[in-house]
Amino acid sequence: MQPFVYNSQASRVVFGAGSLRHLVREIDLLGARRALVLSTPEQRSSAEHVAALIGERCAGIFDRAVMHVPIETAREAREVAARLNADCAVAIGGGSTTGLGKAIALESSLPILAIPTTYAGSEMTPIYGITEAGLKKTGRDARVLPKTVIYDPELTTGLPAQLSVTSGINAIAHAAEGLYAQDANPVMSLFAEEGIRALAQGLPRVVASPDDIAARSDCLYGAWLCGAVLGSVGMALHHKLCHTLGGSYNLPHAETHTIVLPHALAYNAAAAPDAMHRIARALHATDAAQGVFDLAQSLGVTVALKDIGMPADQLDRCAGIATQNAYANPRPVERGAIRALLEDAYQGKRPA
Ligand code: NAD
Repeated sequence: MQPFVYNSQASRVVFGAGSLRHLVREIDLLGARRALVLSTPEQRSSAEHVAALIGERCAGIFDRAVMHVPIETAREAREVAARLNADCAVAIGGGSTTGLGKAIALESSLPILAIPTTYAGSEMTPIYGITEAGLKKTGRDARVLPKTVIYDPELTTGLPAQLSVTSGINAIAHAAEGLYAQDANPVMSLFAEEGIRALAQGLPRVVASPDDIAARSDCLYGAWLCGAVLGSVGMALHHKLCHTLGGSYNLPHAETHTIVLPHALAYNAAAAPDAMHRIARALHATDAAQGVFDLAQSLGVTVALKDIGMPADQLDRCAGIATQNAYANPRPVERGAIRALLEDAYQGKRPA
């Protein structure tokens, strides 16, 4: 066995169908009395439900979370939290809402209680992102890691089937890259393989029956494990490409991950055979890259960048941005080969 370093992250996880009912107990355990409830405008009714559940412990609702945490929204939310004298943030929603909570915590150290309703996994990471003047800056800070996470699969039945699939494959991407991370360790590799397995088993059942709580539980359990991997070990080529595509061309987050992952895995396959073996085994496939591609395609989501608004004439520029700075990856990152990868992803070609 290779020597390794393993850092456990201190967060409390409460998991199970109906576990939202423990919210008051969990706020009390944080020692908080005045919770600011965060959501997107679309999930305002979920925020209101939470507010009603916690009654006098609710200091207010801020329902303007949007993708990529614009600095203006972060400032506004910080001001609201300070004005209301909030002593914790309850973030109900996906990565955008959790991300807003993180932007508040970064300056105020306000504890975050996250209630994830997608599979993005932000709730398990100390990574934050804030967008200023069109540029998304990300960083790591222990203060932004949610102290408590309530995973209630009942809250995910409203996540549309297609978004469930792309969000689930977004989670699989964290685990897949975690398996070949430079700082991979055996504990996170167990999380990664089990996370992929749970999502690969759960997603087809969610598509067949979005209200299936057992299937939703498998997916949310997988998302938790994959999110923990993202928070614990370094990501590589796949996440770099998706960050470039999302940041420079405003492509939708989960869909972009779903389209790029098979190609990033094909690119790295020969350089990371053990990781590929474990990904394929978790997917019940013979090949990791093809397994992810087939999972996405069989569940009816798009597998081509050209379908989600990527401009054809930007592939060269994108390859340039993504290869500008050196970063850890199992196979050296070469501009020509990355350009070819992007072409395959653009066309939606099945990896060979
Ligand atoms: P999202 O949070 O933007 O949600 C997408 C849409 O789905 C929103 O309108 C939301 O209100 C809605 N939605 C969420 N849950 C729903 C449900 N159960 N039912 C119905 N509608 C629901 O999407 P996301 O993919 O979860 O998050 C993407 C963002 O999170 C990106 O900005 C990404 O960079 C960030 N992210 C950060 C980290 C991290 O570690 N910092 C990790 C993953 C993602």
